[in-house]
This record gives sequence, structure tokens and C-alpha cells, in this order.
Amino acid sequence: MEITRSGSEPDWLQGEGASDGAVQMENEDFCAVCLNGGDLLCCDRCPRVFHLACHIPGLLSFPAGDWLCSLCRDVLQPELEYDCENTRICGENAPKGLSYGLSPSDQRRCEKLTLLVSCNILSAPFHEPVSLQARHYYQIIRRPMDLSAIRSKLNKRSPLHYYTPDHYVSDICLMFRNCATFNYPDSEVAQAGRSLEAFFQSKLREVFPSQAWPPANDSNSDVRDYRTLRKAGARTASAVPPGRNTVTGRGRGGDL
Ligand SMILES: [Zn+2]
Ligand SMILES: [Zn+2]
Repeated sequence: MEITRSGSEPDWLQGEGASDGAVQMENEDFCAVCLNGGDLLCCDRCPRVFHLACHIPGLLSFPAGDWLCSLCRDVLQPELEYDCENTRICGENAPKGLSYGLSPSDQRRCEKLTLLVSCNILSAPFHEPVSLQARHYYQIIRRPMDLSAIRSKLNKRSPLHYYTPDHYVSDICLMFRNCATFNYPDSEVAQAGRSLEAFFQSKLREVFPSQAWPPANDSNSDVRDYRTLRKAGARTASAVPPGRNTVTGRGRGGDL
């Protein structure tokens, strides 16, 4: 395990319990995202630990000195910069065109939200694309979305990089809508999807407090029809109801 705590604490660590060393925070033993062990980076403000690649944004090196995870870092006035791809490509030698997309603070907010969702125990089925072997999945779900695709779109190098927070939120909602569409409502995955969506919606309002968001669960009207089709056994590509967007050419993980 990589311990990055140093002897003297900077001002931003002088919070509760951190001032005199009397209360030492115990970090967890397993990565907050993938729940595995290995070389882990400890947050100095919360108990979470992360693999470099599991943190959002993914880190390119172990930092020297104190470190805060993006759940603890201030989104408006970050206490530290991460060594991540976006930081490197936005430096002095930034190629033209990389100034488009999310503003730095919105970028941090979207990264924080994605990490919050990824650290939620219910999010495991959403971490990677649904297997290509999943029966009928890609006939029924025409616009697959998962957390690995979302985190890749948070990278400014991605041609599909988000340009507004709404753009980002629509992908998260798509991921949950797909889950509700494909899975029977009483299945474990569908229930996890609904709970996780409620969690996301509450965090969204915390992380973007000044932005107006449409009410949650306002777009499931076609889901019921769709399930009826599935129950009737119409499980071919032609069963996709009219009006459902079919993005072709990208397919599974095409956003990666
Ligand atoms: Zn991990
Ligand atoms: Zn933290």
C-alpha cells in the first residue's frame, strides 16, 4: 500500500481531528471503486483508497506528499492538481481546440459525481459494458452506456468529450434508462439501477447546487411499452420501438 502522508500537514489538512495527530484516520484496505487490493493511494481527508487508474480522473503517477481524492477536493478552488491526462494536455503545450468542452470546475464536478457513483456498492454492474455474450442485449439496447464509457468521455482527448454538464448527465440517465429497459423491474439489477439513480440525482443537486435539473424519472414512458414487447417474445432488433434513437456505427463501447 502506498502511504502518501507526510510529516507536516498543509493548511487544508488542518481540519477536524487532523490538527494534533491525536486522532489518526485509518484508511481502508481495498480500492473504493474496484474493491481489490494492491498499490493503493490514500486520501488524506477521508478513509478511501484508490488504484491510480480507478480514481476519477485516472492518475498517471503516485503523487509526492499529501493528496486528496476528488470526492474531498474543492471543486471551485482545488487544493491540488492531479497528474492526469487532462492536466497534462491542458498545460502550456495544449493542442489547439482543447479549450472546448467542460469548464475546469464543471469538469471537476462531473469527475466527482462519476467517482461518487463508482464508489457506490450498487454500481458494480455499471462499471463496464454489458458482455457481448449477453443474450439479446445489443438488439434491445441501441445506445449502450456504462461508467467506463462515461469516464473516457470525461477525457478531453476523446472526440466525444462532454461539452456541457447536461450532456454528461444525459449519458448517466441513458445508462439507468437502459438498465430499466432491459431488466425486469423486480430483478436485482433493475432495483440496483433505481437505487443508484436516486443516489445520483441527490448528489447531482449537491454538486451542481445552482443548476436547475429536470425531475428524476421523467422519461420512462417508453420503457413500459418496450417491456411488453419483450414479454411478448419480440426480442429481435425490429422490436425496437419507433422513436428510440439508434446510434449506429458506435456500438458497444464505441464511446471508449
Ligand atoms: Zn481499484
Ligand atoms: Zn477523500
